[in-house]
Amino acid sequence: MKKIVFFVLILVILTFIIPAFFTRVSVQSKSYYENNLGNTEKNANVEEQQSGTNEQNNDNQGQLENQKQNEIFEQLGIQNEAQEKSIDLTQYDYKNFNTVKLLHKKTNTIEEIPLDEYLCGVVSAEMPVDFDIEALKAQAIVARTYTIYKIMQNQSKHGDANICDDSSCCQAWITKQDRQEKWEEDKREDNWNKIVLAVNETKGKIITYNGKPINAFFHSNSGGATEAPVNVWGGGGYPYLQSVETAGEEGYEQYSSELQLSKEEFISKLKEKYSDFSIDFSDANCIQIIEYTTGGRIKTIKIGNHNLSGVEVRSIFSLKSANFTIEINENIKFNVKGYGHGVGLSQTGSDSLAKQGYNCEDIIKHFYVGVNVVDF
Ligand SMILES: [Zn+2]
Repeated sequence: MKKIVFFVLILVILTFIIPAFFTRVSVQSKSYYENNLGNTEKNANVEEQQSGTNEQNNDNQGQLENQKQNEIFEQLGIQNEAQEKSIDLTQYDYKNFNTVKLLHKKTNTIEEIPLDEYLCGVVSAEMPVDFDIEALKAQAIVARTYTIYKIMQNQSKHGDANICDDSSCCQAWITKQDRQEKWEEDKREDNWNKIVLAVNETKGKIITYNGKPINAFFHSNSGGATEAPVNVWGGGGYPYLQSVETAGEEGYEQYSSELQLSKEEFISKLKEKYSDFSIDFSDANCIQIIEYTTGGRIKTIKIGNHNLSGVEVRSIFSLKSANFTIEINENIKFNVKGYGHGVGLSQTGSDSLAKQGYNCEDIIKHFYVGVNVVDF
């Protein structure tokens, strides 16, 4: 009888336990591989990054970030296994992110500021105070997430600082005094209180995907649909950043803009980039849109003897977005829709959704697919 029991035990070990052990190891290896693959793709495409008002740049040091992130995890006592799977944010303590070391770009000085005080400066710099409180709260959560992401990834981009106050590099920030001076005197107190409310009511809340803080890109106006990052910077690795449609964007001044240039100016701008550029304006097909992105922006356009990406044309002519049409008359006229790269949360779209009854979490889940808003 004992022999039979022993035999059955051996059989169970051989059939279930040993295979289960190997399966677990291989799943972890795959996850680690995918993580690194994602980062490599990001690195390969950093040269295509563009930036503008109210925009955030992509990260361009994926592997370095990973290494730094691991160091921070080690300091926080988080095990390797947790790094490869989802991170349990309950292991973080708010005090770990109590202050931010902010680099003031103009004076090249670093100031250490309590996190939420810093966030008031970001929200008031990044979003008009007359937007709906739920939109301001969404912006506060996005700004907190972006900041925590930056601290955790500590890219060494700014030396000892975590983040800078330049909107074309990290996210904008303004002092309370400078902000208030731009408001009418009788509105200063109420306006500032509204900003503080947006930050306080979302205290400790950040956006996660698979348990990790997301790279919370945002922009000014989507023109009606946001954009997948692959169409702006190439690469992949952000499943929560997909093209989504938003009603009501057209009601904001950021929705449409124009740029007029003489034909000579148009040619000379293109020649700065492509010295062999040429175009025959008498040819009806001298400018042709070849392909659109999923978010409705220009993916590829033929201008004269060159094929360009919409992002490239946006950069050459400093257009507000890559969603444009070109009219050829006496002059060349760009009609542009939306403002910004179009990835992630749209600020005017957030205000529009808030006015339709969305709360801050609904807004965030509209713009970032499959995410959670969690307390940490
Ligand atoms: Zn920066």
